[in-house]
Amino acid sequence: MKKNHNTHITHTEPLHMGVDSDTLAGWLADYDRDNITIGVVASHSSLQILHGARMEGFRTLGIAVGENRRRFYQAFPGAEPDEWLMLENYREMLDHAEWFRERNVVIIPHGSLVEYLGSSNFRELQVPTFGNRGILHWESSRERQRQWLEAGGCTMPKVLEDPHDIDGPVIVKYAGAKGGRGYFIARNYRDFRRNVDIEEEFTIQEYVLGCRYYLHFFFDPTATDGFQVRGKGSNAGKNLGRLELLSMDRRDESNVDEFYKLGSLRDLREMALEPSFVVTGNQPVVIRESLLPRAFEMAEGTVAESFELEEGARGMIGPFCLETIVTDALEFKVFEISARIVAGSNPFVGGSPYSDINEERMSTGRRIARSIRKACKSNRLDDILS
Ligand code: AMP
Repeated sequence: MKKNHNTHITHTEPLHMGVDSDTLAGWLADYDRDNITIGVVASHSSLQILHGARMEGFRTLGIAVGENRRRFYQAFPGAEPDEWLMLENYREMLDHAEWFRERNVVIIPHGSLVEYLGSSNFRELQVPTFGNRGILHWESSRERQRQWLEAGGCTMPKVLEDPHDIDGPVIVKYAGAKGGRGYFIARNYRDFRRNVDIEEEFTIQEYVLGCRYYLHFFFDPTATDGFQVRGKGSNAGKNLGRLELLSMDRRDESNVDEFYKLGSLRDLREMALEPSFVVTGNQPVVIRESLLPRAFEMAEGTVAESFELEEGARGMIGPFCLETIVTDALEFKVFEISARIVAGSNPFVGGSPYSDINEERMSTGRRIARSIRKACKSNRLDDILS
């Protein structure tokens, strides 16, 4: 049986960035800052990113495999890229690095880009990308995420090391599971034995009963106003930048969201049905306003900790999402972090109940473009790209 071993991580591990700051500075020195093109793989949150880039006055580039993908964008002229790069395979992006740089392209990463390229290829892509690619190392393992989030002051669902200890509902997550496919719920050891695939690496997590909220934050390290994140450790006493709450969603997950319609878990098992957690869509939500201070406290701690993860860490830059469950004791349990734009921000192309308070029609995609626009003007692109 393969278990997810607790890897011991020290602060002396090497930095996990594919592109060093001198290389980035070298590329940017040749960039025409008045003619930046925003490039994105046509999937995930690309409509929002392309639309936002256009609103901020950028030229845009779509990257796609397959004519069908390109054609579909004709249905959305408000987001249709000014130019396309059509490929046979997404990995060809690596060979087009110079082509991208000659066109002053800044790539906006999203979950599909990382999945299509593979995380090590993404880290090595020789093109400026928005955000900090170094953070991927921390995001890509459940154990490292836990170390980061708990050090940042978030409470996470308990992890059970030994399946014999299961004495209430748990969720079993496979290491390579995509979009919640293949997770299962067990109430006891027998359940676990019946369902587990012992060939796979897995984590057993306490099943937290409550309502899910996916909190979309944005951290702007170049802003000195607003809600400033206070540094800790090596950054104690410093303000690190501005934390914003842009929006919030809840995922639709098939089939677990509709499972209750067929009866109890026992009834369902008799029909040989198991719940699955495959994301099929997203719904906009807000939380009780009295929960917002805690939400900010968790996000602030997470950002402050991101600068302490290893020596010289650049920390969080741009959008990130805390995936949470709020229990009936009104406590947040954070079960995951995404350190880039999440597809859950897609319902907010026209703004959200949170972002509208500060500026109308500010989607996460547009906020990214705004950040690049501002950095072009103040000559600080190096601070927000990697
Ligand atoms: P994840 O792959 O960790 O984002 O989880 C996929 C889905 O599984 C979530 O959106 C939740 O619906 C559910 N889930 C994950 N972890 C837990 C947990 N500890 N307790 C209850 N539900 C969970």
